[in-house]
Amino acid sequence: MIYLDNGATTKMFEECMDIYKEYACDAFFNPSTNYIHGVNISKKLDEVRQNLLAKLGAKRGDIIFTGGATESNNLAIRGSLRKGWEHVFSIGEHPSVYNVAKDIETFSDYSVKFVPLSKNGQVDYDELEKLLSPKTRLISVMHVSNETGAINDIKRVAKIRDKICPKALLHVDGVQAFCKIEFNLDDLGVDLYTISAHKFHGPKGVGALYVRNKQALKSIVFGGGQEFGLRSGTENVAGIMAMACAFNKINVKENFEKVKKFNTLFIENMNKVDGVHILKIDNSDKDSSFSPYVISLSFDGVNGETLMRALENDVVVGMGSACSAKKSGNRVLENMGMDKSRIKSSLRVSFNAYLNEEEVVSSAEIIAKRYKEVWEKVK
Ligand code: PMP
Repeated sequence: MIYLDNGATTKMFEECMDIYKEYACDAFFNPSTNYIHGVNISKKLDEVRQNLLAKLGAKRGDIIFTGGATESNNLAIRGSLRKGWEHVFSIGEHPSVYNVAKDIETFSDYSVKFVPLSKNGQVDYDELEKLLSPKTRLISVMHVSNETGAINDIKRVAKIRDKICPKALLHVDGVQAFCKIEFNLDDLGVDLYTISAHKFHGPKGVGALYVRNKQALKSIVFGGGQEFGLRSGTENVAGIMAMACAFNKINVKENFEKVKKFNTLFIENMNKVDGVHILKIDNSDKDSSFSPYVISLSFDGVNGETLMRALENDVVVGMGSACSAKKSGNRVLENMGMDKSRIKSSLRVSFNAYLNEEEVVSSAEIIAKRYKEVWEKVK
């Protein structure tokens, strides 16, 4: 079976499991204790914070360890809300941002606005500019779309922020970008950045939130005051150490080049098949930019879910976001103006850098063959 749903989750590196075990079974001490064993663990966590800041390209700021990206996103958003202020979200966000915004919208104290997407899946920068005001407190725009792979120009978003509302916080969900595309947080002008370990071969249920200025954030979980008082609860030490093992192992540039080749190979093979449409870079649009790790494609005359199920024993592909797979419709593709029949026939392929070219070509061939078989049955 070839696994091409790495946007949903990735296989954990075996050596990170060894690290996990070490910190779960041997060095298992609570980092909040004052005896030497606990103090040593606390030091280890601080080393990981420094490593992670360096990997993100941030010279200042702090790392708050969390139970994954859903929690990081909730903390970033709920922790920076202010009554009477405006909060602006891209409509293309993952449910762990979008549904928080929808919830906040029900309270009259907070103003919430949504920025539409352009046809290429990026946030519409002109509309964003129109929606911002000096009363804007928070802007939340994801780095790479989990549905389409579209890369938002975060630097451009930060520049628009600096022009209209320089004090507003910029939160970026970087789950599909960190350890996949090269960037430097200080360059981007980001205040809050979300990552999740299981998307880069670390364990599930552990992640982090980068916070440029802790003073701007309020806690949403109260208790023992861990993580600078911003996320109470004993840290998932084994998970954090295994996460560090994973991001330290990844060479982002090298992996990117490999996956770019996989992407080209896959698209070349799929382009040979009638009835397959690939959402990819529109060269006429200079702003358009896609991560090679994600390909959104659709199949004339065939339901995406039917094809996904017909493939599942040979090639595992996804249907957009796994977190919203059980819901009908697709908010992101709909907002990009894609018609309903194409949305219904959409699938998402997402790579990891540890595949090989044979697997990529053979998966494209299997998908093409299975598509024709399903099409013959339903036509
Ligand atoms: N944001 C994005 C962009 C994602 O792709 C995901 C995972 N599908 C999440 C947030 C949620 O991550 P986690 O599973 O760590 O809560």
